[in-house]
Amino acid sequence: MDYFDIIVVGAGPAGSSAALTAAKEGVSVLILEEHPQVGIPLQCAEGLSRSTIKEYLDIKPEWVSVNLNGSIVRGPTGEEFRIEYPNVGWVLNRKVFDAELAEVAVSKGAVLEVNARVIGIEDDRLIVRRNKKIEKYRFRFLIGADGIASRVGRWLGIDTGLGLNEIEVCAEYFLENIKINPHYTYLIFQQNLAPGGYAWIFPKSENSANVGLGISPIKTKNRAKRYLDAWIEREFPECIIKEKIFGGVPAKILKRFSGKNFFLVGDAGRFTDPLSGAGIANGIKSGVIAGRNAVLRLKGKRDFFEREIEEEILKEIRFHKKVRDAYLGLGERDCIKIFNLGKKFFANKTITDINTRELVREVILSLPHLLPLGLRLIF
Ligand SMILES: Cc1cc2nc3c(=O)[nH]c(=O)nc-3n(C[C@H](O)[C@H](O)[C@H](O)COP(=O)(O)OP(=O)(O)OC[C@H]3O[C@@H](n4cnc5c(N)ncnc54)[C@H](O)[C@@H]3O)c2cc1C
Repeated sequence: MDYFDIIVVGAGPAGSSAALTAAKEGVSVLILEEHPQVGIPLQCAEGLSRSTIKEYLDIKPEWVSVNLNGSIVRGPTGEEFRIEYPNVGWVLNRKVFDAELAEVAVSKGAVLEVNARVIGIEDDRLIVRRNKKIEKYRFRFLIGADGIASRVGRWLGIDTGLGLNEIEVCAEYFLENIKINPHYTYLIFQQNLAPGGYAWIFPKSENSANVGLGISPIKTKNRAKRYLDAWIEREFPECIIKEKIFGGVPAKILKRFSGKNFFLVGDAGRFTDPLSGAGIANGIKSGVIAGRNAVLRLKGKRDFFEREIEEEILKEIRFHKKVRDAYLGLGERDCIKIFNLGKKFFANKTITDINTRELVREVILSLPHLLPLGLRLIF
């Protein structure tokens, strides 16, 4: 039976970041990925903001589909405003990005096994179905990076289940034969289009984009696909649909995401931003933090995994979760007022930073009847 210091389950951004960080320190690392090719199938709009990732990873030009200079926000009445934010981030080519990140981990010494689906855990052994055979691998430390449907967490006794108010259900298509400005994302806040969530157009080029939406199942019984099909027919009647994906984004904070000999990272640890649904950056951050701290544990040294995750990731997630919960409780009139405030806030300005706390403060000061809500956000 093969034996590794660290086994990482899942070769998404979180798993590969954990593996490459740990492998750099000279410990033996195995990554197990259930699919034959890393990065495929993809469930993502591929947007990444520069500020969220800058101390963790240098983004190479070959990983990028387009550079972004801001967003166009469409409100409940159909009116739009533009946020000018030069070099705010990128729409990645995640199929290339995920595959190359795993290759970097391998170049640092990690072993990558594809077609290797983890199907259970027995003490310090993983049971793996690989090329139709069952194999067992022993580990000293385990990193669960197996995405939103994570089973590693459950096997280790962690309640990773997602209630109806703890998930955003998403549908997204990759469209060609459209015409868009490739340097601006579209964010659309209309309750009849995406109840309890928002819709997006993330450009991949002048003629193609990831177009999708996320809905809250507590706001509607209809499927996300139904909303998306109807919208795409109106918005892009000439488009060619090349790919369809359906997935979810967690909006839950786990009570526990680590144990004596394991850490959960990325979507498996529920480190996705509950407001935007963004999980690439927090996946990478939590992976790097996990890789570093797993090595400390293996060396019998004191580690800071929980503290670093709290500081770097959970502090913001806790605040954004409250904002999301508040957003779910707002009526149409408040949404229109908030949109108008946003328009005033961003008009004729080029910005270099978006501070959610500052925005929420502006909203509360301008709409005093939302004060009780504001107090809930602060405390
Ligand atoms: C529609 C949609 C749009 C999104 N858009 C964005 C966006 O624009 N920007 C953004 O930042 N985030 C976005 N997200 C979220 C983002 O995709 C995830 O947060 C991110 O991929 C999480 O990375 P991860 O490494 O934790 O998990 P994943 O990328 O899901 O990787 C998990 C890996 O584990 C493997 N795996 C799972 N189970 C096993 C097993 N038992 N054995 C072996 N391998 C296993 C999987 O095959 C997969 O490769 C979006 C999500 C959705 C659904």
